[in-house]
Amino acid sequence: DALPLDEVDGNVIRTVKRSVFSESQPSPLKEPLTLAAVSQDVLRNILDLNESVIQNEEFVCCVSGGKLFPGSVPLAHRYGGHQFGYWAGQLGDGRAHLLGEYTNRKGERWEVQLKGSGKTPYSRSGDGRAVIRSSVREFLCSEAMHFLGVPTSRALSLVVSEEPVWRDPFYNGSVIKERGAVVLRLAKSWFRISSLEILTRTGELDVLRTLLDFVIKEHFKSIATNDPDKYVVFFSRVLNETAHLIAHWMSVGFAHGVCNTDNFSLLSITFDYGPFGFMESYDPNFVPNTSDDEGRYSIGAQANVGLFNLQKLLEALKPLLTSDQLSQSLQILREYPQIYHQRFHELFKAKLGFLGNEEKDSYVIAFLLKLMEDTGADFTMTFRQLSEVTLSRLQKGSFAPSLWALSDLSSHKHFRDWVQLYLQRLLIDSDEERQHRMQAEEDAVLLPAEAVCVKALLLTPQHQSRTTAAPALLLQHRLHGTAMMPRPTAAHAQ
Ligand code: AMP
Ligand code: MG
Ligand code: MG
Repeated sequence: DALPLDEVDGNVIRTVKRSVFSESQPSPLKEPLTLAAVSQDVLRNILDLNESVIQNEEFVCCVSGGKLFPGSVPLAHRYGGHQFGYWAGQLGDGRAHLLGEYTNRKGERWEVQLKGSGKTPYSRSGDGRAVIRSSVREFLCSEAMHFLGVPTSRALSLVVSEEPVWRDPFYNGSVIKERGAVVLRLAKSWFRISSLEILTRTGELDVLRTLLDFVIKEHFKSIATNDPDKYVVFFSRVLNETAHLIAHWMSVGFAHGVCNTDNFSLLSITFDYGPFGFMESYDPNFVPNTSDDEGRYSIGAQANVGLFNLQKLLEALKPLLTSDQLSQSLQILREYPQIYHQRFHELFKAKLGFLGNEEKDSYVIAFLLKLMEDTGADFTMTFRQLSEVTLSRLQKGSFAPSLWALSDLSSHKHFRDWVQLYLQRLLIDSDEERQHRMQAEEDAVLLPAEAVCVKALLLTPQHQSRTTAAPALLLQHRLHGTAMMPRPTAAHAQ
């Protein structure tokens, strides 16, 4: 069935049938190589390695595709995808190689993958490479998201090289020479919605069933393999976790940028950090991807896009379901908005320091978001500064310069109305406990994240952009207090 289009380093680019993976060798990067960043947390706590291992000269080769780990059979995964609403056919790992899996001391099984490691059978017209700026962003943001408490893929290392890579970064038709880089990334599984979709689309139902049973057995251990409704239960789990994940993204102001079905994990982790962005002032129309002209993947559209993607998952599962199971699954799909909204409200209630449930909570949250939207008040810092201000100071409505986000917010003509509602909601509670609770919510970030982010930023200052700097600044702020988090300036905005 092979349709050879190109051959590089023994990898033939082609349409593949009846497979989930193809063997494919990484193509080493041009030397000299520099180990630009390592996540100490991944090194120690996922891979059980000691920091001294990075001194070993072979380390940089092993984590960039120049030397394989003993016994490794590198694979590229075959998947398809709905891209920007339309079925795009076979995509697959066009620049990634799965090196193998590692079961660590805690008994966790992790899949180790290189990104930017050269062509595979799925590269289509791509060069199989990733440039430094996109690799820095992938490395930084996946680690930052982990420490922000959001389920995500992880990154061990970032290796930069002299490999020439040609790109058109401003989409104006003129290519510039950049440098190639490889990120070693890890996830419990890299399977995505479109890993299943492609098998249904091509009618490979036996392979579909084999893959799905494997995913359930390996990653959904609480689902009994002999449960006749296991695919329905699986669908319901993925739907729940996907709704929770997107609510979590919203609570930290994260826009993924390319929410195609090939970038939506079956384990509901965030992955594929391309043109993502963190929202500065609250704006549901925030679109981080400059090539997303219609704003299909704006931050405010993510919840709906999640529903679209889950619909595509159900279409992929359909041939394996009885008509009864299909109706049950359609009912589960209808519950998605409610599951999403409930999680969204839980997360925002915690950000506002609310205990328990009150009828007006959704209104108080929506009201605040509207004030933020109208005044352009900083999303992250409004909540942070609310946790730092006393209620009596909030009521007075005049703020010290360090509380600049609240100051912006207070310019709204309905600010005082909102403060009244907020105060009424908190009447039952001691103010000190409220502040403490809100700060604990904000401070659930550990030191290694800061070390990772700040180090990588220092190494590659020319690649800083507002969205790259945001997670590092946020983490730094959370560790050191308001003084470290000045109002963003033009220097951050690039
Ligand atoms: P993404 O939009 O990043 O999810 O990528 C969509 C598809 O394009 C995936 O199949 C990627 O593997 C592929 N792709 C992206 N960049 C490259 C590249 N430089 N070389 C080969 N394939 C690529
Ligand atoms: Mg992708
Ligand atoms: Mg990508």
